[in-house]
Amino acid sequence: MPRPISVTIHTSAMKNNLAVVRSRSAGRKVWAVVKANAYGHGIDNAVQAFEDADGLATIEVRDAMFMRHLGWKKRILLLEGFFDDDDLEALERYDIETNVHSQRMIDMIRAKAPYKNLRVHIKVNSGMNRLGFAPDEVPAVREALEAIPGCRVMGVVTHFANSERDYDREGNRPVTVARQLERMAGQETTEGACLANSGAICFHPEVMGDEIRAGIILYGSSPDSSVTNEELGIKPAMTFAARIIAVQNIAPGEAVGYGSRWIASRPSRIAVVACGYADGYPRSMPDGSPTYVEGVMAPLVGSVSMDMLEIDVTDIPAAQVGSLVELWGEHVLVNTLAARCNTIGYELMCALAPRVPVRVD
Ligand SMILES: *Cc1c(COP(=O)(O)O)cnc(C)c1O
Repeated sequence: MPRPISVTIHTSAMKNNLAVVRSRSAGRKVWAVVKANAYGHGIDNAVQAFEDADGLATIEVRDAMFMRHLGWKKRILLLEGFFDDDDLEALERYDIETNVHSQRMIDMIRAKAPYKNLRVHIKVNSGMNRLGFAPDEVPAVREALEAIPGCRVMGVVTHFANSERDYDREGNRPVTVARQLERMAGQETTEGACLANSGAICFHPEVMGDEIRAGIILYGSSPDSSVTNEELGIKPAMTFAARIIAVQNIAPGEAVGYGSRWIASRPSRIAVVACGYADGYPRSMPDGSPTYVEGVMAPLVGSVSMDMLEIDVTDIPAAQVGSLVELWGEHVLVNTLAARCNTIGYELMCALAPRVPVRVD
């Protein structure tokens, strides 16, 4: 018998979410961002569900090769660039496009020339101060790259630090979308520009460009938790669930789990669920965090163990050994849970452990 825990990936939701992105993107080319194992959803599932995307964007060359192996024929982009001059051969062989963000990368490209058709995008640092050239360096970078035989500049790329909705309502965020856009002025008009991530796609129609990069929204998680999935028309593509494997009836004053963090204030029925932090459910989750069982919410009680967690089902008589508990998915939004332990839904989805069996529906 397999351990009763699984993650179910809903490819129909991923397709729906891609259609939502398309309808919001006014004919622009859509890169589906599939880094980190497609935000935990599986590269293979993403290749299938995002067949209507114009391209897939990821981080590792290895992932890009795997996508080709799975039969992906359209564009592939490396968001963080390549790391070593050996990678350049794979880029050519597998027809992989890359961002170029440093002089070191330009030097590596030049040293391995000529190319049949090496397609590159110039990464611009417009205020995030992570990767990229300063806006005023772009003309020289473009010239240097275009002088390399077989190297073709596809356009410019930048990334926003604060693309959520209320980015400057309090007036105290130094790096707004508007400020970054100002620094890009002139750049995006020269040729292809790829600017918007999910937040900008949803909340910043003023961000234009020819291409967009959609990540979190494709997986059915709102880029800003104050805006609902219903408002955006998206559906969660991941259901993380496990079954109850034991029930304890405890007296008031009894504690639950390591560190005796939660203490019963009444006679309580405590259900033990076959999911722990070694499965990717954060150990930092506080008491009272929601799970969904037999049609209602049941609160987490006590510290999450490596292989189990416990929930209070005193008021849910239908919850028994064998009942399925949704940890996150349609009823318990991953963003809601993430906020409770001071992180974002992205991190929870990416941190799903390899030991959790994956199902696809
Ligand atoms: C991850 C990433 C994206 C996608 O961001 P979402 O917020 O998930 O839409 C886009 N561009 C770059 C450079 C990224 O690293």
